[in-house]
Amino acid sequence: MEHLSVNHALRCVLESVKKLDVETIGIEKSLGRVLAEDVYANRNQPPYDVSAMDGYALRSADLSGVPATLNIIEDIKAGDMPQHTLQAGQCARIMTGAPVPAGADAVLRVEDTEAIESGRVKIMRAVAAGCDIRRLGENMRDGEVVLSAGTEITPGVVGILATVKAAHLQVIRRPRVAILSTGNELEDMDDPVDANKIPNSNSYALMGQVQALGIEPSLLGIARDDPEELAEYLQRGLHFDVLLVSGGSSVGVHDYVRPTIESLGVKMLFWRVAMKPGHPLAFGTTNKTAVFGLPGNPVSSMVCFEEFVAPALRQMMGHTRLYRRTVTAKLAHAIKIRPGRTEFIRVMLSRDADGYVATSTGTQSSGVSLSVARADGLLVASSNSNGLAAGEGVTVQLLDGTAFQNEMGFEE
Ligand code: AMP
Ligand code: MG
Repeated sequence: MEHLSVNHALRCVLESVKKLDVETIGIEKSLGRVLAEDVYANRNQPPYDVSAMDGYALRSADLSGVPATLNIIEDIKAGDMPQHTLQAGQCARIMTGAPVPAGADAVLRVEDTEAIESGRVKIMRAVAAGCDIRRLGENMRDGEVVLSAGTEITPGVVGILATVKAAHLQVIRRPRVAILSTGNELEDMDDPVDANKIPNSNSYALMGQVQALGIEPSLLGIARDDPEELAEYLQRGLHFDVLLVSGGSSVGVHDYVRPTIESLGVKMLFWRVAMKPGHPLAFGTTNKTAVFGLPGNPVSSMVCFEEFVAPALRQMMGHTRLYRRTVTAKLAHAIKIRPGRTEFIRVMLSRDADGYVATSTGTQSSGVSLSVARADGLLVASSNSNGLAAGEGVTVQLLDGTAFQNEMGFEE
């Protein structure tokens, strides 16, 4: 089997996994999902011309010589319907969102008026016709498509769904994801601490990565490096849409994962990718399940998830934005690189006057899992890079945590 470039491997993964089927959910569970139907406005919004301010609805022609005094003929609150048509010299006190009465062609905000004796108001400023009126249908028109299929449901979209009373909606379902760790040396969370064992961190780190995409995975536990036991566990995993297998896909004599997966009818599409870390990544499919054989090294496992599994899961959920956002950063120090593989270097990001500054999280050995835990992003060094110089502009994929920052980041 070939030794693929990151790009080739990613294309192979994305060609193999399909958008999943549709389910109906309630609006309260819709955040982060992708719409599977067009959503229409069910009325004009606003339903009539309404005031954009607390103030006075009036006739702009009455204000040719300001200050001017107008008679207040009614008081219109949001939710009221106006009772009168304004005549020359008249106005109505009006609240934000309340319907503008017939005869009025503008609203003047209360700050530009002076209260005088009851029933009359002094207008200090002239306004043009149309001022501070929100027009009928300005937000949406009855029957128009307000959200199209494929839209990712953000908090703003939830607001639109509520506006059109879409209490239930069709979305692409989420993939069912299973996580299996393999290795005789592994000690699970409930096991007593044994100095000779390696704590199973991968199942949980992968769990977190899957959860960060809005999916609740199933942890299948730990399979020993024994073909029969492995086959049993893997079979369980093949009932899911996606099976993540950690460890055992390398070239060691006890690395049974690839042959055992194949014996269960999984067609292996690639093994080994020209990347660092993450080289021994394996990928295969059945009609039903996409199987990722992730390297056991904690850092490699997490990087392979970010680069291959996350885009696949997002594509299955109907997203079109599949990849981590990238930013350009200035490298704080030189980094040695040997060409031949795409490197993913864990970095922390800070800012200076010019923008982002990237600093390595420390030793980049794939066994040092704190290098990922501390990272704000992955600096991507191309496979033909011979090294990076201090001050050089580099591309960094943002990991989730950097969506937030310590400082406000702007002047008031
Ligand atoms: P493997 O890919 O099975 O050859 O494992 C490579 C390295 O990753 C070994 O040092 C393993 O002990 C370690 N490793 C494998 N699986 C896990 C896991 N679930 N959690 C933490 N470390 C692991
Ligand atoms: Mg192993």
